[in-house]
Amino acid sequence: MSRPNHNGKTGVPRALATLTDRLAAHAEGAWVTDTAGRTYLDFATGIGTLATGHRHPKVLAAVRRQLDRLVHTCYSVMPYESYQELVGRLIDLTPGSFPKRGLLLNSGAEAVENALKIARAATGRPAVLCFEGAFHGRTLLALGLTSKTSTYKRGFGPYPGEIYRVPYPYCYRCPVGREPATCSVDCRRLLEEALATHVDGRALAAVLIEPQLGEGGGAVAPFPFLQAIRELCDRTGAVMVVDEVQTGFGRTGSLFAVEQAGVEPDLMVMAKSLASGFPISAVVGRAELFDGIQVGGLGGTYGGNPVSCAAALATLEVIVGQRLPERARRLGAVMRRRMQLWQERYPEYLGDLRGLGAMLALEVVSDRQTRRPLPALARAWSQACLDEGLLLLTAGVHGNVVRVLIPLIISDADLNEGLERMERALETAVASLARVEETT
Ligand code: PLP
Repeated sequence: MSRPNHNGKTGVPRALATLTDRLAAHAEGAWVTDTAGRTYLDFATGIGTLATGHRHPKVLAAVRRQLDRLVHTCYSVMPYESYQELVGRLIDLTPGSFPKRGLLLNSGAEAVENALKIARAATGRPAVLCFEGAFHGRTLLALGLTSKTSTYKRGFGPYPGEIYRVPYPYCYRCPVGREPATCSVDCRRLLEEALATHVDGRALAAVLIEPQLGEGGGAVAPFPFLQAIRELCDRTGAVMVVDEVQTGFGRTGSLFAVEQAGVEPDLMVMAKSLASGFPISAVVGRAELFDGIQVGGLGGTYGGNPVSCAAALATLEVIVGQRLPERARRLGAVMRRRMQLWQERYPEYLGDLRGLGAMLALEVVSDRQTRRPLPALARAWSQACLDEGLLLLTAGVHGNVVRVLIPLIISDADLNEGLERMERALETAVASLARVEETT
């Protein structure tokens, strides 16, 4: 017999967390309407999948055309052009002018797992170096690479072996106790130390990193740190894998965040905003890494489904044609200015404002000196946003980060309206916190 979920209304397990019990009915552009007719500006965009907004007309038109022609054969049974066309497009758009291959899959986690299969097969080595605070997905290998026990990991082990973890270069909580202005990116030495203490360079198949943490709370890896990983991989023969599942396709102000560091990864993993909400992901990278793998070694029933391929090709046309990365930089600057005012107004609570382009995050703390995480305020802020008519997500290992994942097609007026709502919700959340403090 099925058990009721936390609402007691459906058979969906309570383990599947939801931001709200309100039910979505309709969405367009930057707006979502619920079944009660309430409208919300969407600063969550399906966890960063909708750079082009909801139901972009060009994406819908491409999908409708595809529905009338071909829905599914499974590429491994009878291939189709749109898969090859999309791979070609991704090869052109990703950094690096070397020969490349591209594999299409369904989800971010699946792409991460495939990238590591490819790295292991190509190097003949087992070990993977990853980072604290990372989120790479919920399948077992991806979860083994992810840091957050309280929600994601508890109870699901044992996790796969040969995974080694070093601190992320999280400047606000510097792992080597320095301040960003004067640090010379000293945390780079943690990479070398890992080779001395955890894993011999000759056993290292891959180093896997998000250029900016997504679920981990928005910390940005300093560019010299990414360059140091590139050097380490060149020296040891390991494969540099960059996870651009959340940062990819314009949100950070460039098509891919890693471009800003001038680094060319060996493999790149992407998903989310690639297809405006249709499920698809990809691994793209050096041809020689793919070419030694036995025929039949990679694949899947639905990976690169024709409908998702059509959505992705149309999405890329919009992102590139409308210069959404450039727009992300401009929108990011507008949001940053406004958020700095909030920081001035609430200096004790809004500890750190960070992010590339429009992928901004605010870390909420109980005071600026101790930097103690204050998840209760981040949660209250996000919930108060719902009542203001705004969808806003929290993030971070301690759940104390508020982050914006806006649709990059949002109008200036809607962006301003969203920021107004966010500001009012912050006032409400701080006032509710003060009331709790008074009564305790
Ligand atoms: N990698 C990163 C950086 C992510 O942000 C996510 C999802 O949030 C994933 C991988 C996993 O993607 P999916 O949920 O599509 O499996």
